[in-house]
Amino acid sequence: MNRKFYITTAIDYVNALPHLGTAYEKIGADVMARFKRMAGYDVFFLMGVDEHSANVAKQAKLKNLDTKIYCDQMAQEFEKVWNKLDIKYDRFIRTTDNDHIKSVQELFRRINENGDIYKGKYAGWYCISCERFYMEKELVNSNCPIHNTKPQWLEEENYFFRLSAYAQRLLDLIEKNPRFIEPEIRRNEIVNVIKNGLEDISVSRSSEVWGIPVPFDEKHVVYVWFDALINYITGAGFPEYDDKFSKLWPADMHVIGKDITRFHCIIWPAMLMAAGIEAPQKVFGHGFIYLSGEKMSKSAGTALDPVSLAQKYGADPLRYYLMREIPFDRDGDFVMENYHQRYQSDLANDWGNLIQRTLSMINKYRDGKVYSTRNLSNPVVEEWRGILSDILGSIEEDYNTMRINIVLSKVWQLIQLSNRFVDSQAPWKLYKQDKNSEELDFTLYSLVEMIRIANILVYPVMPTISNRVQDQLNINYPITLDEASVWGRISSGHAIGKIEPIFPKSEV
Ligand code: ZN
Repeated sequence: MNRKFYITTAIDYVNALPHLGTAYEKIGADVMARFKRMAGYDVFFLMGVDEHSANVAKQAKLKNLDTKIYCDQMAQEFEKVWNKLDIKYDRFIRTTDNDHIKSVQELFRRINENGDIYKGKYAGWYCISCERFYMEKELVNSNCPIHNTKPQWLEEENYFFRLSAYAQRLLDLIEKNPRFIEPEIRRNEIVNVIKNGLEDISVSRSSEVWGIPVPFDEKHVVYVWFDALINYITGAGFPEYDDKFSKLWPADMHVIGKDITRFHCIIWPAMLMAAGIEAPQKVFGHGFIYLSGEKMSKSAGTALDPVSLAQKYGADPLRYYLMREIPFDRDGDFVMENYHQRYQSDLANDWGNLIQRTLSMINKYRDGKVYSTRNLSNPVVEEWRGILSDILGSIEEDYNTMRINIVLSKVWQLIQLSNRFVDSQAPWKLYKQDKNSEELDFTLYSLVEMIRIANILVYPVMPTISNRVQDQLNINYPITLDEASVWGRISSGHAIGKIEPIFPKSEV
């Protein structure tokens, strides 16, 4: 039986369409999911939307729509965006889905039965955009430190979750599983927060009507974050403890932004512990994308729309640029010039050109066929295969730590080396000297193998283009990582397919 890999992303509030930063997270998770599928795992990739937010209810009201109808429309819009970016999830969960409501109520009930939910009075500053309370000392000039807007003073009777009781157990969890929180900088932040002391948190609201009712007290709805986090077990089949749940849970990786690590690395595992459910294997807190050094802001008109960016060259080049240029574990910069530059140099010149000229020469010198030869070797080919075995030796670990940029830069070493191989072998000269040159066959065959293998390694990032390259090579077996470790997969006499430019030259 294949090993499973259950990966999730944060679910997004539907009060605005996704911006580039949101897309970056989903693309990173999709690349990971595709890599794991290619490596033979049974992957379950969960994405979705978070609908029970006061912000969402507010937007619906502004648009004069029933909240649920507004959410239905927005959920569709989100799915359209993700499809345009070639993100292939297995389920798109909505927090208004019936199974999720059941799951939230069951978890709430269970934590209550175990004695970790109690009723109390809460008073504090609440930022509706963050959907969380702030302490006086956390405010900046009396405003939310993130949104710079004035929070509301709220006083209400709420249900509380006894988070304070879990500090030691959380520290033990983090110590026992050093990879529970990545990257390391995020782990250190979380350990500090826990060591500074945890307070119980309010997990219901009595002033809201939009939300999931507390199962034993209909006057309250479950706090939106408590509700949202539970989507990860709903996606795995909770509250049924059936084959699906025991297969999928615990999740292998929650991919989230670094601003919500406290929810995922403190509150979430504590909630699960309180209900007797295992904590997830790993939470990865990625960095933020800035626009030429500036924070993107919708209100300031500096937020980039991922769909219009993908319209320029297609989704794959955008995915490539983001994964190559911005290391997943830290903040990065989207620079429009670099985006065009990467397209021209890495994609059109390096990768596209290698494919185009290799396949054209096969047509020209060998009537569209490649022939394997025996007993020939070449130092460039040996070097190439050395780099490849290096890549294959560490690729799984590179992916597990989301070092996708590192994998890509190594793959580009291969691609550039292949181009140098074309130049040094000069097949046009070989042909001129001897039409039946065995060296020419060796060169063309080696190049086709190089392209076939590099194309597998590129696949998780550029799936559509990889499939087109497979078509041009005229190979139709599925793309798997195993195929990348076999040199000589293409049989002698194999006929290539129809050639078309993969990265058309584009006006900047
Ligand atoms: Zn805020």
